[in-house]
Amino acid sequence: MPLIRERDSKRLHVKSKLMGESLVGKGFLASLEYGEPFRALPDVNVLKIGGQSITDIGASAVLPIIKEVVENAARHKMILATGGGTRSRHVYAVAMELGMPTGVIAKLGQSVSEQNALMISTLLSPYGGIKLGHDDISKLAAYFRQGCIPVVHGMPPYGYFEHLPREGRLPPNRTDVGTFLLAEVIGAKQCIFVKDVDGLYTDNPKVDPNAEFISRIGAAELIERDLEDLVVERALLEMIINARSVKQIQIVNGLKPGLLTRALDGEHVGTIIYQDV
Ligand code: ADP
Ligand code: MG
Repeated sequence: MPLIRERDSKRLHVKSKLMGESLVGKGFLASLEYGEPFRALPDVNVLKIGGQSITDIGASAVLPIIKEVVENAARHKMILATGGGTRSRHVYAVAMELGMPTGVIAKLGQSVSEQNALMISTLLSPYGGIKLGHDDISKLAAYFRQGCIPVVHGMPPYGYFEHLPREGRLPPNRTDVGTFLLAEVIGAKQCIFVKDVDGLYTDNPKVDPNAEFISRIGAAELIERDLEDLVVERALLEMIINARSVKQIQIVNGLKPGLLTRALDGEHVGTIIYQDV
Protein backbone atom coordinates (compact mmCIF):
# COMPACT_ATOMS: atom_id res chain seq x y z
CA MET A 1 0.00 0.00 0.00
CA PRO A 2 1.68 3.24 -1.09
CA LEU A 3 1.98 6.35 1.06
CA ILE A 4 0.23 9.34 -0.48
CA ARG A 5 0.58 12.99 0.53
CA GLU A 6 -2.75 14.83 0.39
CA ARG A 7 -2.54 17.99 -1.69
CA ASP A 8 -4.47 20.29 0.61
CA SER A 9 -3.69 19.08 4.15
CA LYS A 10 -0.21 17.70 3.33
CA ARG A 11 -1.17 14.76 5.51
CA LEU A 12 0.48 11.45 4.74
CA HIS A 13 -2.01 8.68 4.10
CA VAL A 14 -1.78 5.00 3.42
CA LYS A 15 -3.98 4.28 0.44
CA SER A 16 -6.85 2.10 1.56
CA LYS A 17 -10.62 2.26 1.68
CA LEU A 18 -10.39 3.50 5.29
CA MET A 19 -8.07 6.42 4.47
CA GLY A 20 -9.43 9.77 5.61
CA GLU A 21 -12.66 8.21 6.87
CA SER A 22 -14.14 9.02 10.26
CA LEU A 23 -15.00 5.28 10.53
CA VAL A 24 -18.50 6.20 11.63
CA GLY A 25 -20.01 7.22 8.29
CA LYS A 26 -23.15 5.17 7.67
CA GLY A 27 -22.61 4.73 3.94
CA PHE A 28 -18.94 3.96 4.50
CA LEU A 29 -19.68 1.25 7.09
CA ALA A 30 -22.33 -0.31 4.87
CA SER A 31 -19.90 -0.39 1.94
CA LEU A 32 -17.25 -2.42 3.75
CA GLU A 33 -17.03 -6.07 2.82
CA TYR A 34 -16.09 -7.97 5.92
CA GLY A 35 -16.59 -11.60 4.93
CA GLU A 36 -16.75 -14.31 7.56
CA PRO A 37 -14.49 -13.84 10.61
CA PHE A 38 -11.70 -16.36 11.14
CA ARG A 39 -12.64 -18.97 13.70
CA ALA A 40 -9.55 -19.87 15.69
CA LEU A 41 -11.06 -22.63 17.83
CA PRO A 42 -14.17 -23.87 16.00
CA ASP A 43 -14.21 -27.19 17.85
CA VAL A 44 -14.23 -25.68 21.35
CA ASN A 45 -17.29 -25.45 23.58
CA VAL A 46 -17.52 -22.49 25.94
CA LEU A 47 -19.47 -23.32 29.09
CA LYS A 48 -20.58 -20.89 31.73
CA ILE A 49 -20.78 -22.39 35.19
CA GLY A 50 -23.33 -20.19 36.93
CA GLY A 51 -22.23 -18.39 40.08
CA GLN A 52 -25.49 -17.93 41.94
CA SER A 53 -27.16 -20.76 40.04
CA ILE A 54 -24.45 -23.44 40.44
CA THR A 55 -21.27 -22.63 42.42
CA ASP A 56 -23.13 -21.12 45.38
CA ILE A 57 -25.05 -24.36 45.89
CA GLY A 58 -21.73 -25.97 46.74
CA ALA A 59 -20.62 -29.59 46.48
CA SER A 60 -24.01 -31.13 45.64
CA ALA A 61 -24.25 -29.05 42.46
CA VAL A 62 -20.63 -28.43 41.55
CA LEU A 63 -19.07 -31.88 41.97
CA PRO A 64 -21.44 -33.76 39.62
CA ILE A 65 -20.84 -31.06 36.99
CA ILE A 66 -17.07 -31.35 37.41
CA LYS A 67 -17.47 -35.13 36.97
CA GLU A 68 -19.54 -34.64 33.83
CA VAL A 69 -17.01 -32.17 32.41
CA VAL A 70 -14.18 -34.64 33.05
CA GLU A 71 -16.14 -37.50 31.47
CA ASN A 72 -16.64 -35.39 28.35
CA ALA A 73 -13.10 -34.02 28.14
CA ALA A 74 -11.82 -36.78 25.86
CA ARG A 75 -14.59 -36.15 23.30
CA HIS A 76 -15.19 -32.41 23.67
CA LYS A 77 -12.84 -29.48 24.08
CA MET A 78 -14.24 -27.14 26.71
CA ILE A 79 -13.43 -23.80 28.29
CA LEU A 80 -15.25 -23.06 31.53
CA ALA A 81 -16.15 -19.50 32.44
CA THR A 82 -17.40 -18.73 35.92
CA GLY A 83 -20.11 -16.45 37.25
CA GLY A 84 -19.89 -14.48 40.48
CA GLY A 85 -23.12 -15.20 42.30
CA THR A 86 -24.14 -14.28 45.83
CA ARG A 87 -20.80 -12.75 46.83
CA SER A 88 -20.90 -10.40 43.86
CA ARG A 89 -24.44 -9.40 44.78
CA HIS A 90 -23.24 -8.69 48.31
CA VAL A 91 -20.35 -6.53 47.18
CA TYR A 92 -22.60 -4.77 44.62
CA ALA A 93 -25.02 -3.87 47.41
CA VAL A 94 -22.26 -2.53 49.67
CA ALA A 95 -20.62 -0.68 46.77
CA MET A 96 -23.87 0.94 45.68
CA GLU A 97 -24.58 2.12 49.21
CA LEU A 98 -21.09 3.63 49.30
CA GLY A 99 -21.74 5.43 46.03
CA MET A 100 -19.28 3.50 43.89
CA PRO A 101 -19.52 4.21 40.16
CA THR A 102 -20.32 1.44 37.69
CA GLY A 103 -16.68 0.93 36.66
CA VAL A 104 -15.63 0.21 40.23
CA ILE A 105 -18.60 -2.10 40.75
CA ALA A 106 -17.57 -4.01 37.61
CA LYS A 107 -14.04 -4.46 38.99
CA LEU A 108 -15.48 -5.83 42.23
CA GLY A 109 -17.68 -8.27 40.32
CA GLN A 110 -14.66 -9.49 38.38
CA SER A 111 -12.75 -10.36 41.52
CA VAL A 112 -15.62 -12.50 42.78
CA SER A 113 -16.01 -14.46 39.54
CA GLU A 114 -12.24 -14.96 39.71
CA GLN A 115 -12.66 -16.58 43.14
CA ASN A 116 -15.05 -19.07 41.57
CA ALA A 117 -12.65 -19.68 38.67
CA LEU A 118 -9.95 -20.51 41.19
CA MET A 119 -12.18 -23.04 42.95
CA ILE A 120 -13.44 -24.66 39.73
CA SER A 121 -9.93 -24.88 38.26
CA THR A 122 -8.62 -26.34 41.52
CA LEU A 123 -11.29 -29.06 41.44
CA LEU A 124 -10.33 -29.78 37.84
CA SER A 125 -6.58 -29.79 38.55
CA PRO A 126 -6.22 -33.59 38.62
CA TYR A 127 -7.77 -33.70 35.13
CA GLY A 128 -5.89 -30.85 33.46
CA GLY A 129 -7.84 -27.89 34.85
CA ILE A 130 -5.92 -24.64 34.55
CA LYS A 131 -7.01 -21.14 35.51
CA LEU A 132 -6.23 -18.65 32.76
CA GLY A 133 -6.43 -14.88 32.54
CA HIS A 134 -7.65 -12.87 29.60
CA ASP A 135 -4.10 -12.37 28.31
CA ASP A 136 -3.83 -16.14 27.90
CA ILE A 137 -6.69 -16.39 25.41
CA SER A 138 -4.24 -16.38 22.50
CA LYS A 139 -2.53 -19.40 24.08
CA LEU A 140 -5.69 -21.51 24.32
CA ALA A 141 -4.82 -23.78 21.40
CA ALA A 142 -1.50 -24.66 23.04
CA TYR A 143 -3.25 -25.50 26.29
CA PHE A 144 -5.72 -27.75 24.48
CA ARG A 145 -2.80 -29.59 22.86
CA GLN A 146 -1.56 -30.39 26.36
CA GLY A 147 -4.98 -31.78 27.26
CA CYS A 148 -5.85 -28.89 29.57
CA ILE A 149 -9.34 -27.83 30.61
CA PRO A 150 -9.04 -24.01 30.77
CA VAL A 151 -11.08 -22.07 33.32
CA VAL A 152 -11.49 -18.28 33.09
CA HIS A 153 -13.54 -15.84 35.09
CA GLY A 154 -16.60 -14.75 33.17
CA MET A 155 -16.53 -10.96 33.59
CA PRO A 156 -15.64 -9.12 30.38
CA PRO A 157 -12.53 -6.96 30.90
CA TYR A 158 -14.27 -3.58 30.70
CA GLY A 159 -13.62 -3.02 34.42
CA TYR A 160 -13.30 0.70 35.14
CA PHE A 161 -14.45 1.33 31.56
CA GLU A 162 -17.67 -0.65 31.91
CA HIS A 163 -20.54 0.71 29.83
CA LEU A 164 -23.01 2.77 31.78
CA PRO A 165 -26.43 1.21 32.25
CA ARG A 166 -29.49 3.21 31.25
CA GLU A 167 -30.90 2.65 34.74
CA GLY A 168 -29.11 2.39 38.08
CA ARG A 169 -25.43 1.62 38.45
CA LEU A 170 -25.05 -2.15 38.07
CA PRO A 171 -22.63 -3.19 35.33
CA PRO A 172 -24.83 -4.30 32.42
CA ASN A 173 -22.14 -6.58 30.97
CA ARG A 174 -21.45 -9.31 33.46
CA THR A 175 -20.44 -12.95 33.29
CA ASP A 176 -23.10 -14.12 30.80
CA VAL A 177 -21.91 -11.45 28.37
CA GLY A 178 -18.22 -12.16 29.04
CA THR A 179 -18.74 -15.87 28.42
CA PHE A 180 -20.50 -15.20 25.14
CA LEU A 181 -17.91 -12.69 23.92
CA LEU A 182 -15.18 -15.24 24.66
CA ALA A 183 -17.05 -17.82 22.56
CA GLU A 184 -17.45 -15.29 19.76
CA VAL A 185 -13.84 -14.12 19.65
CA ILE A 186 -12.46 -17.66 19.38
CA GLY A 187 -15.19 -18.68 16.93
CA ALA A 188 -16.30 -21.44 19.31
CA LYS A 189 -18.48 -24.38 18.33
CA GLN A 190 -21.14 -23.56 20.90
CA CYS A 191 -21.82 -21.55 24.02
CA ILE A 192 -23.69 -23.33 26.80
CA PHE A 193 -24.97 -21.75 30.01
CA VAL A 194 -25.12 -24.21 32.87
CA LYS A 195 -27.68 -22.94 35.39
CA ASP A 196 -30.16 -24.31 37.93
CA VAL A 197 -33.31 -24.12 35.80
CA ASP A 198 -34.39 -26.00 32.67
CA GLY A 199 -34.01 -22.84 30.60
CA LEU A 200 -36.02 -19.72 29.89
CA TYR A 201 -39.57 -19.30 31.14
CA THR A 202 -42.07 -16.52 30.63
CA ASP A 203 -41.14 -15.39 34.15
CA ASN A 204 -38.79 -16.47 36.93
CA PRO A 205 -40.03 -20.02 37.67
CA LYS A 206 -38.86 -19.72 41.27
CA VAL A 207 -41.26 -16.81 41.77
CA ASP A 208 -44.07 -17.74 39.41
CA PRO A 209 -44.80 -21.49 39.35
CA ASN A 210 -47.19 -20.95 36.42
CA ALA A 211 -44.47 -19.50 34.22
CA GLU A 212 -44.34 -21.30 30.88
CA PHE A 213 -41.20 -22.88 29.46
CA ILE A 214 -39.84 -21.44 26.22
CA SER A 215 -37.69 -24.04 24.44
CA ARG A 216 -36.53 -21.88 21.53
CA ILE A 217 -36.78 -18.16 20.84
CA GLY A 218 -35.04 -15.52 18.78
CA ALA A 219 -33.02 -12.88 20.63
CA ALA A 220 -34.84 -10.00 18.92
CA GLU A 221 -38.20 -11.60 19.61
CA LEU A 222 -37.23 -12.01 23.27
CA ILE A 223 -36.23 -8.34 23.53
CA GLU A 224 -39.54 -7.48 21.90
CA ARG A 225 -41.45 -9.56 24.47
CA ASP A 226 -39.88 -7.42 27.20
CA LEU A 227 -40.32 -10.08 29.90
CA GLU A 228 -40.28 -9.00 33.54
CA ASP A 229 -37.24 -11.16 34.36
CA LEU A 230 -34.77 -13.23 32.37
CA VAL A 231 -32.49 -16.22 32.91
CA VAL A 232 -29.57 -14.41 31.20
CA GLU A 233 -28.34 -10.82 31.22
CA ARG A 234 -30.37 -8.57 28.93
CA ALA A 235 -27.19 -7.22 27.28
CA LEU A 236 -26.45 -10.74 26.06
CA LEU A 237 -29.49 -10.63 23.76
CA GLU A 238 -28.05 -7.67 21.82
CA MET A 239 -24.76 -9.54 21.54
CA ILE A 240 -26.46 -12.58 20.00
CA ILE A 241 -28.13 -10.31 17.45
CA ASN A 242 -24.72 -8.85 16.50
CA ALA A 243 -22.81 -12.16 16.63
CA ARG A 244 -20.72 -13.11 13.61
CA SER A 245 -19.70 -16.65 14.57
CA VAL A 246 -21.71 -17.99 17.50
CA LYS A 247 -25.29 -17.49 16.39
CA GLN A 248 -27.07 -19.15 19.28
CA ILE A 249 -26.69 -20.11 22.91
CA GLN A 250 -28.23 -22.88 24.95
CA ILE A 251 -29.21 -22.72 28.63
CA VAL A 252 -29.17 -26.14 30.30
CA ASN A 253 -30.04 -27.38 33.76
CA GLY A 254 -26.77 -28.41 35.38
CA LEU A 255 -28.60 -29.96 38.30
CA LYS A 256 -29.95 -32.71 36.05
CA PRO A 257 -27.10 -35.12 35.32
CA GLY A 258 -26.54 -35.92 31.67
CA LEU A 259 -28.07 -32.77 30.16
CA LEU A 260 -24.70 -31.04 29.77
CA THR A 261 -23.34 -34.13 27.99
CA ARG A 262 -26.31 -34.14 25.62
CA ALA A 263 -25.91 -30.41 24.96
CA LEU A 264 -22.20 -30.94 24.20
CA ASP A 265 -23.30 -33.63 21.75
CA GLY A 266 -25.40 -30.99 19.99
CA GLU A 267 -28.80 -31.96 21.39
CA HIS A 268 -31.46 -29.42 22.24
CA VAL A 269 -32.11 -30.14 25.92
CA GLY A 270 -32.75 -26.68 27.38
CA THR A 271 -33.61 -23.30 25.88
CA ILE A 272 -31.95 -22.13 22.68
CA ILE A 273 -31.82 -18.37 22.07
CA TYR A 274 -30.81 -17.71 18.48
CA GLN A 275 -29.98 -14.87 16.13
CA ASP A 276 -33.25 -13.97 14.41
CA VAL A 277 -32.31 -10.75 12.60
P1 ADP B 1 -25.97 -17.30 37.07
O1 ADP B 1 -25.55 -17.62 38.45
O2 ADP B 1 -25.69 -18.38 36.08
O3 ADP B 1 -25.55 -15.96 36.58
P2 ADP B 1 -28.55 -16.23 37.71
O4 ADP B 1 -28.94 -16.66 39.07
O5 ADP B 1 -28.04 -14.85 37.51
O6 ADP B 1 -27.55 -17.30 37.10
O7 ADP B 1 -29.75 -16.43 36.70
C1 ADP B 1 -30.43 -17.65 36.68
C2 ADP B 1 -31.72 -17.50 37.46
O8 ADP B 1 -32.57 -16.61 36.78
C3 ADP B 1 -32.53 -18.75 37.57
O9 ADP B 1 -32.09 -19.50 38.67
C4 ADP B 1 -33.94 -18.22 37.75
O10 ADP B 1 -34.35 -18.23 39.11
C5 ADP B 1 -33.83 -16.78 37.35
N1 ADP B 1 -34.80 -16.32 36.33
C6 ADP B 1 -35.30 -15.05 36.29
N2 ADP B 1 -36.12 -14.92 35.25
C7 ADP B 1 -36.17 -16.10 34.63
C8 ADP B 1 -36.86 -16.57 33.48
N3 ADP B 1 -37.66 -15.78 32.75
N4 ADP B 1 -36.69 -17.86 33.10
C9 ADP B 1 -35.89 -18.68 33.81
N5 ADP B 1 -35.20 -18.30 34.91
C10 ADP B 1 -35.33 -17.02 35.32
MG1 MG C 1 -26.39 -14.05 36.44
